Amino acid sequence: MEFIDLGRQYKALKDRIDGRIANVLGRAQFINGDEVRELAEKLAAYCSRKYCLTCANGTDALTLALRCLGVGEGDAVFVPDLTFFASAETAALAGATCVFVDVDKRTFNLDAVKLENRIRQVIAEKKLKPKAIIAVDLFGLPANFPEIRKVADKYGLPIIEDAAQGFGGSINGKRACSFGDISTTSFFPAKPLGCYGDGGAVFTDNEDYYKLMASLAFHGKGSHKYDNVRIGYNSRLDTIQAAVLLEKLKAFDDYELTDRNKIAAKYDSYLKDKFTTPLIPENFQSSWAQYTLILDDENERDNLQKHLNANGIPTMIYYPIPMHALKAFEDIKTPSEEIEVATKLTKTVLSVPMHPYLKDEEIKFISLKVLETR
Ligand SMILES: *Cc1c(COP(=O)(O)O)cnc(C)c1O
Repeated sequence: MEFIDLGRQYKALKDRIDGRIANVLGRAQFINGDEVRELAEKLAAYCSRKYCLTCANGTDALTLALRCLGVGEGDAVFVPDLTFFASAETAALAGATCVFVDVDKRTFNLDAVKLENRIRQVIAEKKLKPKAIIAVDLFGLPANFPEIRKVADKYGLPIIEDAAQGFGGSINGKRACSFGDISTTSFFPAKPLGCYGDGGAVFTDNEDYYKLMASLAFHGKGSHKYDNVRIGYNSRLDTIQAAVLLEKLKAFDDYELTDRNKIAAKYDSYLKDKFTTPLIPENFQSSWAQYTLILDDENERDNLQKHLNANGIPTMIYYPIPMHALKAFEDIKTPSEEIEVATKLTKTVLSVPMHPYLKDEEIKFISLKVLETR
């Protein structure tokens, strides 16, 4: 059994994907081919945004967003303490200082009340300038944007939505990648919408932001390719990946997102009476990048992981170390009461296999093996 079975997905979509790739190969239009433009248009439409720019990966997407917003030295960027490293790494790479913020104990996402606390602390200390909020749609569930937006507006801060795991989720029918002043996503193969290599995208409704990010992603180009007006990057999604994503987006929209939700509901039905299953707040929808259980303590979590692995069921711990405790961030001192929840979650979470091609008997088998441990 696979944790995320990309092989099964390829089998289902093989003819269409192979045809798309062969078409690109035949035209030898490997960079900036028609598929790249078509994909950006479809992604923008899917997320109801004015602009989408595809780029090389989700990490670059964050870097483009941070550069676009002018984040740099002396700035504080507020980042959840429980996330993938890149959410914080890119802010540090831009020269800013990460201020780690605790997460909600059931949704795993940025806690808006604690966010405001941290912003007030930074203002009171007068050392850093609050500059931006990075809110992550962890495990496929959009962050609490209604509340986070209130805080952001109160302090005049832009929001970067890191939707690397969130593509396809929604709040009141409004889709992920539409909540940030700039939103970013990743097409890393294991993400809800993944390609066959690296890929990413940024989304915005602001034309100036879009133009600036398009320039940054293309060596800081001005009016043409050899008119370089700023220091930028080379960050492109190649045509083959765009071709793969056009087919995968179709399947995602046609049935995969629906199936992900059906599978999560099946897990819930087996497990919810005896285990702490994922909480999806009312009016929120997840794209189920992960299905993550919360155990009572580290010991129980580790025993469950061993039991499942012994039965051939792959599991993952997202994430084993909170951002504030990583060696790379050892210079940043975070009061322990500010990151209590994230710290506890790193010791108690366990993610089980989750992908739209999981079969009923597999969901049942995994659930029965989980149930055996309590
Ligand atoms: C995967 C991921 C990224 C980085 O995406 P890449 O395409 O691998 O660079 C950033 N943030 C989060 C939350 C992620 O899960």
